[in-house]
Amino acid sequence: MPGFEIINEEERVAINNIFDEGGILFAHGFDSMRKKFHVREFEKMSADYFKCKHALAVSSGTAAIKIALKALNVQQGDEVITQSFNFIATIEAILDCGAVPIIANVDNSLNMDPNDCESLISKKTKVILPVHMLGVPAEMNSIIRIAKENKLNILEDNCEAVGGKYKNDYLGLIGDVGVFSYDFGKVITCGEGGMIVSNNTEIDKYAREYHDHGHENNPQFPRGRDTRSIYGFNYRMTEMQAAVGKVQLSKLDLILIENKKRYDAFSKNIPDKIKIRNIPTGSQPIYDTFIFFTDSEIEKNKYVQILNSEGFGTKNLPDAMEWHCSAFWDHALSPQVVSHSQKTRKLLEKAVAVPIWLRKSESDYTRLAEILFNQ
Ligand SMILES: *Cc1c(COP(=O)(O)O)cnc(C)c1O
Repeated sequence: MPGFEIINEEERVAINNIFDEGGILFAHGFDSMRKKFHVREFEKMSADYFKCKHALAVSSGTAAIKIALKALNVQQGDEVITQSFNFIATIEAILDCGAVPIIANVDNSLNMDPNDCESLISKKTKVILPVHMLGVPAEMNSIIRIAKENKLNILEDNCEAVGGKYKNDYLGLIGDVGVFSYDFGKVITCGEGGMIVSNNTEIDKYAREYHDHGHENNPQFPRGRDTRSIYGFNYRMTEMQAAVGKVQLSKLDLILIENKKRYDAFSKNIPDKIKIRNIPTGSQPIYDTFIFFTDSEIEKNKYVQILNSEGFGTKNLPDAMEWHCSAFWDHALSPQVVSHSQKTRKLLEKAVAVPIWLRKSESDYTRLAEILFNQ
């Protein structure tokens, strides 16, 4: 997830320019003092890039998930089905709405197992929340079918696969609403930040008001006398984040191309016998991680040791499993849900994630494959 690796003069200039344009760091108002509205421009640029009607910039990916759940009217006692290979933020957002997280296992794609998801649906289920983990799209066809048959909404957590596609559609725009994260570890970054994307005007309207204390930003009134019909919270993005976000978004095409070159250099050079993560047909990953499975703990540790000594690291598998596998989350989930996740834990314990870094070259990845598999 390399956006931070190519931060350069462009981001520096973008931040500095704000101070020549009036120095307004806030997204709204101060019209006479400012020359630019960076958050608005970032939203417009995002809607154009991802070919959607609405893009709303917010303070983080976690905030984006919570706002999207609120916009889908998730309430106290509702159930939201998400998945066992994930990041804790998704569960936190569900809990913060007073709802109950239900966790489906993942299959060999390391994304939501549609069959397990279907078996967990109850009368209380309101939303299915698939997560496109580590760059690879979830099997959306099946998830859409299940959602339709059961009259459920879909919120796509696309924090980890911004720019990926499933059958020609950008991830995040296949379900009812999608969210991105721009935290410092993600494929593009503004330090902290998030985006809510959709083609649904009602969802966008609610989200826009909720993330800004209920402000309707009614053009007929100054902000101090603005109209409102709901209360909300403060999950706004700042102008500094948006100025950096615009530059990073302009680099996304390049990042995706460069990722794929390195990914291909690695994958071309691994032996056929190595079992790799399934990638759904018709999907376009962002190629920022290559995941393969090992046969034993000993074998896995050998690979991890090489990845560390060669300066690649292993990202969240197995590096940060405890933050990414729900089998470890007894501080937030019921014992029943935690024990259902043990199946995923067993699968992930055999998996090794190779991060694709932009600062490493294609030949570094060719060489890495040789070192790893010809020992
Ligand atoms: C990063 C991430 C989030 C949270 O995003 P933040 O911007 O860090 O709040 C949520 N879900 C997944 C899958 C993530 O990887």
